[in-house]
Amino acid sequence: MELKYDGFTPDEMEEIKRNIFLSTFDQVKGWARSNSMWPLSFGLACCAIEMMGTGGAHYDFDRFGVIFRASPRHADVMIVAGTVTKKMAPILKRLYDQMPEPKWVIAMGACAIAGGPYVKSYSVVKGVDQIVPVDVYIPGCPPNPAALIYGVNKLKEKIRYEAKTGKKVM
Ligand code: SF4
Repeated sequence: MELKYDGFTPDEMEEIKRNIFLSTFDQVKGWARSNSMWPLSFGLACCAIEMMGTGGAHYDFDRFGVIFRASPRHADVMIVAGTVTKKMAPILKRLYDQMPEPKWVIAMGACAIAGGPYVKSYSVVKGVDQIVPVDVYIPGCPPNPAALIYGVNKLKEKIRYEAKTGKKVM
């Protein structure tokens, strides 16, 4: 945004531009939310090992403001890492419903996206998006921690874009 104000010298205007930050409240909220995502610990199968590795010292998820929470009441992101069985589906939905708004879902790995290697099994849900809305899909069997970090950064971009434009991106 261009600052125009009579009565200031060019040097003073430069100083003002360097020290005054103009934004909308929604954009500031989006910026804060995107930099402090708290995912619900929700490992279901082998993909969860990669998710746990991402939280460890080597990949250091915390440096992105991503801190795992044990309660859905404290979480705003659900990372579905692994195979969703039909028996687990109602529990997943209940935990999602217990998370406060706004909230987001990442489908991590082929199983969470579409059933993966168990796509023909009678007991496996063919994609977690049949139960809850998914914001980011991360393909792989399993996706490695770098892929998960990439997916989280995509979700950050999405949150900021939605805060800036007011449009929901599906
Ligand atoms: S996508 Fe592959 S690695 Fe991930 S839970 Fe399914 S079988 Fe395991």
